[in-house]
Amino acid sequence: MSQAGWQVDPESGWLVESQTIGFQVRWRLLRLLHHERSPYQDIVVAELDRFGRALFLDRILQVAEMDEFIYHEMLVHVPLAALPAARRVLIIGGGDGGTLREVTRWPDVEEIHLVELDEAVVRVCRQWLPQVGDGAWDDPRLKIHYADGYAFLQEAPAGTYDAILVDCSDPGTPADTLYSETFYRLADRALAPGGFLVQQALSPFIHRDVLAAILRRLAGVFSQSGVYFCPSIAYLIGLQAFVWGSKGTNPAAGPARPAPGGTRWYTPEVHRAAFIVPPALENLQSATSG
Ligand code: SAM
Repeated sequence: MSQAGWQVDPESGWLVESQTIGFQVRWRLLRLLHHERSPYQDIVVAELDRFGRALFLDRILQVAEMDEFIYHEMLVHVPLAALPAARRVLIIGGGDGGTLREVTRWPDVEEIHLVELDEAVVRVCRQWLPQVGDGAWDDPRLKIHYADGYAFLQEAPAGTYDAILVDCSDPGTPADTLYSETFYRLADRALAPGGFLVQQALSPFIHRDVLAAILRRLAGVFSQSGVYFCPSIAYLIGLQAFVWGSKGTNPAAGPARPAPGGTRWYTPEVHRAAFIVPPALENLQSATSG
């Protein structure tokens, strides 16, 4: 059966993901739960052996039940714990609800704006991956905007957000503009003094030159910027990188306040350790392809 480029090997029930740099993944498929094509992308939710339920967009894995908490806790609690307070938070992307779930755990957050390009992703994830959002979609502080994140920031009033969390798909997808220097300038303008932006930025090993270019763009806009890491199991990239750009707060200094209880990965020690850059990853910013 071949659906829109999807290869599900009828014999063995493997789901074959699209080619990534240097390797191709075959997932043992237990059940194909949902498949639709939206105006923006191909959306699949599958039950995978070991990894649990998983969301694929345009044949690229986005979230898997087994380890999504590591990524979402590190994307949210590192910036929010580094800030003395955060009243207004903007999430760009994040249609699976995991980032939103972790933001709603902060009692001092008064307003959450989630800007997701594709309404179908939210609808499909609420239906087939309810444990990821875990009820956060009904939080009264939430305002959802179905819009392009770049266009949304072009209209955002200056100095509005304490934190901008960009949980978007990779470069080379509808998220491409969210890795541009102009986008970072728009984010800089929309951030309140001391506020900062954090964005998922692939892997320091497999996507080293892409990450390096992103870091150079950020350094060209923000007075302070850098990278931190966490393990990534389901993305099969070893380490997940998060880049940050700040208007004053340095998250590498460690948490300024405790994160909400009950986290499964994030701790103050994990926060500090995430900024330790081993020699092999030093000078990432100056890396170029080849
Ligand atoms: N954790 C995943 C990763 O690291 O690749 C990202 C998951 S999240 C589901 C990605 C979301 O970004 C998708 O729902 C996608 O529709 C959304 N997205 C992509 N481009 C966007 C844009 N330009 N503006 C807003 N949302 C966008």
